[in-house]
Amino acid sequence: TRRKIVAGNWKMNGSVESVVELVESIQANDAVEVVVAPSYVYLPLVAQSLTGSKVMVAAQNVSEFAKGAFTGEVSLSMLKDFSVSHVILGHSERRSLFAETDVQVARKVASTLEAGLTPILCVGETLEQREAGTTLTVCNSQVDAVLEEIGVELFEKVVIAYEPVWAIGTGKSASSEQAQEVHKGIRDNIAKRSSKVAEKVAILYGGSVKASNSAELFAQADIDGALIGGASLDATEFNSIIESAK
Ligand code: 13P
Repeated sequence: TRRKIVAGNWKMNGSVESVVELVESIQANDAVEVVVAPSYVYLPLVAQSLTGSKVMVAAQNVSEFAKGAFTGEVSLSMLKDFSVSHVILGHSERRSLFAETDVQVARKVASTLEAGLTPILCVGETLEQREAGTTLTVCNSQVDAVLEEIGVELFEKVVIAYEPVWAIGTGKSASSEQAQEVHKGIRDNIAKRSSKVAEKVAILYGGSVKASNSAELFAQADIDGALIGGASLDATEFNSIIESAK
């Protein structure tokens, strides 16, 4: 069975004071993998505050280039310098607001794995796409772009986050049935290439996860944890979500 993963995506929030306070309040337990993703600038501070803790640190993005004249970008080797273990890639905000393509996301997943870090690959449909009945086609084509780049064997190390765009920051989570249906569809699509890899891949749900709906989501067969935005900024909420994943 797959161990649950609870990851907090802090997005562009926080201050020196608030990130230290937040990270010191997180109560991890051995049954759940806990990951937090601060803004780049707080990574060293958060990693340092977590010395001796089991909580792991993620970046919210990374450059597709290794080094050089790329003003404003941050490389994988820089992230490794600060004990970052995970990288969130292809978040819908990156795809829609910063025009990241499937190809770029796939390249970033490949180089993240090559660097020995764990990519958290975000996929998900818009409301329009859901209403048009193309949810699984959209999600699976986002997954397939990566599968084609790295091959199915390496894909075992990828964590997927299914984040329906209409559920992000809206307070309107997918129901546990809706989420389970998509998670299963994503797993079945991977299983067409390798059932062994499909069984191992963790698929997290993201989109308005809170302490009040996490247990029901985590009870679904193909939901292996959550990627949490807003509620991960509130220590009480985030700790309750971790607790519900046990
Ligand atoms: P919310 O939990 O705020 O809906 O955000 C989800 C998300 O985008 C996590 O990456």
